[in-house]
Amino acid sequence: MRTYRTAIFVNGCFWHGHDVVVPQLSGCNLVVNSDCCKIPTTNREFWLAKIRRNQERDQRNYALLRDNGWQVVVIWECQLKTAVIEHTMREVEVKLNDNLLSLYKRRTPKPYREEQGQIQTAAEDDI
Ligand SMILES: [Zn+2]
Repeated sequence: MRTYRTAIFVNGCFWHGHDVVVPQLSGCNLVVNSDCCKIPTTNREFWLAKIRRNQERDQRNYALLRDNGWQVVVIWECQLKTAVIEHTMREVEVKLNDNLLSLYKRRTPKPYREEQGQIQTAAEDDI
């Protein structure tokens, strides 16, 4: 959303590993599943590598956007379920308004400066 200088990502919980702790080294089995993302037990190494790559790419993309002055909002698939979608949309609305306001930060006014030797008056007094 260009007006808000905000990029909104809607991420699938499984593909982007929502709240999953994926180890950086293959062979490590310290995977922590979350309520909405469970790493399959079959082809486990494949899925771990796939989700780890997706998470790393997400972080690179978010950093690039932030470096270029954009805000990033991530909405997870599980946040779009009927029971919580209204709450999610309110959070997004608040974030967008906050981002918009931050684009119009109060500027410090420049002090008035007279040119040296010139006195400017608003009215002449020689009637
Ligand atoms: Zn989720």
